[in-house]
Amino acid sequence: MNDAFDLRLAPAAVHGIVARLRELGFRSWLVGGGVRDALRGVPPADWDVATDARPDDLLRAFPKAVPTGLQHGTVTVVDAGAHYEVTTLRGESAYSDGRHPDAVRFVDDITADLARRDFTVNALAVDPSTGAVIDPFGGKSDLQARLLRAVGAPRERFAEDGLRVLRAARFVATLEFELDPATAAAIAPTLDTFRKVSPERVRDEWLKTMKARSPSRAFEVMRATGMLAVTCPEILEGVGMAQNRWHAFDVWRHGMACMDRCAGDPVLRVAALLHDVGKPRTRAFSAKTKDWTFYDHDKVGAAMAEPICERLRFSTDERRRIVDLVRHHLFHYDGWTDAAVRRWIRRVGRDRIEDLWTLNEADVRGKAAAVDDADMSPLRRMKEHVARVLAAGDALSVRDLAVDGSDLMRELGLPPGKGIGVLLGELLERVTEEPASNEPAALLAMARQIVAARGMA
Ligand code: ATP
Ligand code: MG
Repeated sequence: MNDAFDLRLAPAAVHGIVARLRELGFRSWLVGGGVRDALRGVPPADWDVATDARPDDLLRAFPKAVPTGLQHGTVTVVDAGAHYEVTTLRGESAYSDGRHPDAVRFVDDITADLARRDFTVNALAVDPSTGAVIDPFGGKSDLQARLLRAVGAPRERFAEDGLRVLRAARFVATLEFELDPATAAAIAPTLDTFRKVSPERVRDEWLKTMKARSPSRAFEVMRATGMLAVTCPEILEGVGMAQNRWHAFDVWRHGMACMDRCAGDPVLRVAALLHDVGKPRTRAFSAKTKDWTFYDHDKVGAAMAEPICERLRFSTDERRRIVDLVRHHLFHYDGWTDAAVRRWIRRVGRDRIEDLWTLNEADVRGKAAAVDDADMSPLRRMKEHVARVLAAGDALSVRDLAVDGSDLMRELGLPPGKGIGVLLGELLERVTEEPASNEPAALLAMARQIVAARGMA
């Protein structure tokens, strides 16, 4: 790492912001994750600018900026769709609620501003006119050592703001750094502050964590320090719980392995994390196979995932997706009939199929350290079979039937009402078994039979 920062790493928009502030007589520095990531050779996702301009000056300098956190001195400048946070230099202040500083104290000194930041690697600033790096807390050497270390006394810093411990876990995963032992040791004693973090913030941090190559690095920190016992004790029931001959790992480690291998979007990874959450409560010893069984862990797991997702304030769509995936993650394809494949598609829902492929592959690969290609063969064959069935275009929902409710009412002289929906459902059941029967005459004949048998008319 050279002494000066290569200013070409910062985008033109950042230089534009700095130039505008200079024009008005203000100083500014590049700070935060942008500097950290550029210094470790990773393209930064976003850039932050710290300045001695006060919030009113910022609004004058950037009339179109969004006042995203004006009371903390932050405005967001939007340039070509990218967002840049520009923040007035702030000093340390007390946090009596564990979430927000009691008062915001603006300062003129960049070092004082860096001192209130969470980790040394996040407390680096760059002077944009010279490229000089301002590093009062040894952030550069921690970057090189890949060490995440709190700025100042970790216990005090964690006791003032409960979010920091969760950010620590996240950065261990996203940066693939080790947690400095003194920083790690300060987490358990400050969990009371962590308990005050809102569930929305926890969810957001989880989702950011899921962007790491191995989110399990963060979840291991959360488990070891007690954070997970606060936010999701259900997952801990699987820690140390041995499985059966099919698994090399205990329930917890299998969940970790499945999540790590389930690269996809973050919500899908939450489903991977929770997919076996029902196992501990369903474990039973089979005298016959002399091994553990987990009957219905998919159903029990779905029932557990629902309140977990509610508690963490996942949106309705996210919650449904996670719960559906937990409920349907288990399938054993051994050459099903076409009708069985159609029934499966109807049960899981077409929209969930792609997610289930990703999850199942991760599930199988997460059973042991090495999984050979033959283990993936049932999934491969099932995917082909499902694709074939979908391509055939056979009816998979009531909407795909060759008759609708009004046809049934007209042709069979039936009154409107619930009975019509029930009848359509029965027709779909039959068409699922026998797709060739999906034509009007056959369906009407079938409907007449059903009605006659039940005396519905
Ligand atoms: P990334 O954007 O990759 O998630 P980041 O480090 O940029 O990481 P931001 O949330 O964008 O994180 O915050 C920008 C900077 O503000 C951080 O680098 C850190 O210096 C400071 N910061 C953010 N949150 C806190 C906090 N809770 N306590 C102290 N400092 C914080
Ligand atoms: Mg950032």
